[in-house]
Amino acid sequence: MKAVVYEGKGKISLQERPMPRILDERDAIVKVTLTSICSSDLHIKHGAVPRAVPGTILGHEFVGEVVEVGNAVKKIKPKDRVSVNVETFCGECFFCKRGFVNNCTDAQGGWALGCRIDGGQAEYVRIPFADHGLTVIPEHVTEEQALFNGDILSTGYWAAKIGEIKPADTVAVIGAGPTGLCTMLCARLYTPARILAIDTDESRLKAAAEHGLADLVLQAGKEDAETVIRDLTDGRGADVVFEAAGGVDTFQTAWKIARPNAIVVVVAMYEEPQILPLPDMYGKNLVFKTGGVDGNYCQEIMDLVACGKLDASFLITHRCQLEEILEAYDLFEKKRDHVLKYAVKLLRHRAADKKVYK
Ligand SMILES: [Zn+2]
Ligand SMILES: [Zn+2]
Repeated sequence: MKAVVYEGKGKISLQERPMPRILDERDAIVKVTLTSICSSDLHIKHGAVPRAVPGTILGHEFVGEVVEVGNAVKKIKPKDRVSVNVETFCGECFFCKRGFVNNCTDAQGGWALGCRIDGGQAEYVRIPFADHGLTVIPEHVTEEQALFNGDILSTGYWAAKIGEIKPADTVAVIGAGPTGLCTMLCARLYTPARILAIDTDESRLKAAAEHGLADLVLQAGKEDAETVIRDLTDGRGADVVFEAAGGVDTFQTAWKIARPNAIVVVVAMYEEPQILPLPDMYGKNLVFKTGGVDGNYCQEIMDLVACGKLDASFLITHRCQLEEILEAYDLFEKKRDHVLKYAVKLLRHRAADKKVYK
């Protein structure tokens, strides 16, 4: 089968790889039908994810059809259409029992897919702990509507939850890229008074406004975020701040625009260390919450997608086939053509053609 492989810092390629097999009775094999490229894939490519293992198939945001399950899999069955959780987790360890599945202590727990174990930018993929990691897609929900459920929508959902937004709060989201937009989408579930989107990119801010996610947009570099937010809030600052940009100075903006006692959720994944200037922020009594996502709300998210309360499919600005994915990586990395997200279709499943699983 064809798959995108991380070969080591700076290098990815489309290769022929062997079909995945069931290795544990809790595994499932999924035929990938639609996959995506995430900025975390770029972080891996740049060598900025120390735990990423060279030789691993990339991809942790995808949907597909179950073709085989291990003997201990109870909830999921062959032919189910499923969305895949970015995190694989055992459900039994100290952290899993408390809902902190990102820190599952199993050898294959946490963010392993497409990082430490083979992921879903491939025709087929093995999913460990399939009953926890797969969510059945209801019949009327499209693959494009479910594509982001397990990763960026999970991230936005988790961020909004731990942001503890109260009704009528002023929420600021730094970064109007795919993750920032998902965070705004999920923040709306908590009825804030207003959501302010901050980004340097005008087209991304336009997307935030056009899709009804942001009530106000602010172009960093042209306007001073701190001044604008103070003017809006009687000099206080934002009640909740989400830092979803991961830029050079966006962490500094995040704590500066927060009001005293605010919660600042650091959703972004930085490629460089950040400075926490404690003397400057003394007296602000801020609460910082840092990523990554605990992706254990996939059923809730799917239920909200199914009833029309969440729909992230507008993020798909570009579509291509697996054979064209390296060009897509290039466009996505350089943020050309106002790209937000790719939907990469897998049209040919060679192994299926040979009836391996039939
Ligand atoms: Zn991701
Ligand atoms: Zn666990």
